[in-house]
Amino acid sequence: MADPKGFMTTPREEWPRRPAEERVRDWDEVYVPGALLPIVGAQADRCMDCGVPFCHEACPLGNLIPDWNDLVARSDWRAASERLHATNNFPEFTGRLCPAPCESGCVLAINQPAVTIKNVECAIADRAWAEGFTPPRPPDRLSGRTVAVIGSGPTGLAAAQQLTRAGHTVAVYERDDRIGGLLRYGIPEFKMEKRHLERRIDQMRTEGTRFRTSTTVGRDMAADELRARYDAVVIATGATAWRELSVPGRELAGIHQAMEYLPLANRVCEGDLERSPLSAAGRHVAIVGGGDTGADCLGTAVREGAASVTQLDIYTRPGAARDEEAEPWPTHPKLYRLSAAHEEARDLRSAPAADADARLFAASTLRFTGDAEGRVRSLHLVGVDAGRRPLPGTERSLPADLVLLALGFSGPGREDGLVDGLGLAVEPRGTITRNPDFATNVPGVFAAGDAARGQSLVVWAIAEGRAVAAAVDRHLSGGTTRLPSPVGPYDRPMTA
Ligand SMILES: Cc1cc2nc3c(=O)[nH]c(=O)nc-3n(C[C@H](O)[C@H](O)[C@H](O)COP(=O)(O)OP(=O)(O)OC[C@H]3O[C@@H](n4cnc5c(N)ncnc54)[C@H](O)[C@@H]3O)c2cc1C
Ligand code: SF4
Repeated sequence: MADPKGFMTTPREEWPRRPAEERVRDWDEVYVPGALLPIVGAQADRCMDCGVPFCHEACPLGNLIPDWNDLVARSDWRAASERLHATNNFPEFTGRLCPAPCESGCVLAINQPAVTIKNVECAIADRAWAEGFTPPRPPDRLSGRTVAVIGSGPTGLAAAQQLTRAGHTVAVYERDDRIGGLLRYGIPEFKMEKRHLERRIDQMRTEGTRFRTSTTVGRDMAADELRARYDAVVIATGATAWRELSVPGRELAGIHQAMEYLPLANRVCEGDLERSPLSAAGRHVAIVGGGDTGADCLGTAVREGAASVTQLDIYTRPGAARDEEAEPWPTHPKLYRLSAAHEEARDLRSAPAADADARLFAASTLRFTGDAEGRVRSLHLVGVDAGRRPLPGTERSLPADLVLLALGFSGPGREDGLVDGLGLAVEPRGTITRNPDFATNVPGVFAAGDAARGQSLVVWAIAEGRAVAAAVDRHLSGGTTRLPSPVGPYDRPMTA
């Protein structure tokens, strides 16, 4: 703490966002460029350097938050970068994308707004790249052991970087044409510009990680062949099996899964397409599902020029303040949060049929109806109580000629034959079974990230990637490893 009274004298101030009218006209990140650095030192100085830093406990990566808050407050950016990268391979991703359970667990948050930990993390990561504090770290010597990582999302990338740096020869297999998983073709550019991803991939290539794109393991290449060729295999294929909405009219044209819609918008940003074939331009859009994926659809539809956009959430509207009984500090509570996309929808009045921020809470979809050509035209819904029971007299309709389903994911897809080809045991909910060492029932095959944990967060994916790397290194090195293992396969976020 450069200033022990910082938390009493400095109010919380976040990285400001650009005006909604400006940012929806482009795909760039929503923040005002250059506006974080001038405020972040004083914000870091609000940290009380707690004896028991709950922020650290609340982060799956075990980020050394008070250490780097102090270093930023003292403008020692190089040391801050070293401390940050000691626990996180990709802080520029989490600094932009994480919902920040650390801030919910911050001791200051008991009676004041939390320290802006996520902003401090992002500032350190960006400064580290700008100043060259994070050069490639190729291994001093090679172990002669080989590892195949299947899937190039944050789990696969973190595992590959750790294992490459430990001296193993690592190849990452990815079925898409580009590396990155959901960071590439799920999360929109306005939440994280892909240049951050490219920079890390270049770093990893320089360190020696090999990448094989457009290769679906299980279909283009037999999983057994991969197993025979490598000393260990890490499955990091994500949870891509989306949930369906089985209501009358689901078969109408114009109803799509969020992950059919979002990747096309990402491809426009990549320059592959001039216009998305599913563009929302001029259409009335209804998004079914109140989570972050739905919010990403909302921000994308607004940028594409939708005539209106409404997001349906089956849950009742959460409160603005923590429920001290059900979700006491330091857990990460479900709160009414105004994401950048909701702020845009509110400011641009994008949803005349909904609440000001485009959301309709406690709303359940009954059916869709269409026109003579079989295209969806309306979504019919009913209000529900907290137990999801329909409330009589609350039926209503919304105009909808593009419907996006954002209802979550159950586990890895089975269509590529990878899970069945290898004979992997799976849990009843569809995720890959593994033991406390991240090992599956097939010798030499490990599983991590959303494929095994189920749909989660980038911060958990990176933590799982680091932990599975330690398990693989132990397996290859005869029982020892110097790699850190921040989480176990059965660890879960803090709850009351
Ligand atoms: C739209 C959307 C937005 C999100 N936004 C956020 C956010 O803002 N913040 C946050 O913390 N989390 C967010 N998440 C969740 C987060 O993206 C995931 O938890 C995380 O990406 C999981 O990482 P992963 O590496 O396990 O899987 P993924 O990122 O899904 O990567 C898996 C990769 O494996 C590849 N693959 C699958 N099968 C094969 C095969 N047989 N052969 C070769 N390759 C294969 C896939 O193509 C994919 O590239 C979001 C999720 C979605 C869907
Ligand atoms: S809990 Fe909050 S105030 Fe305490 S060390 Fe962590 S960031 Fe600083």
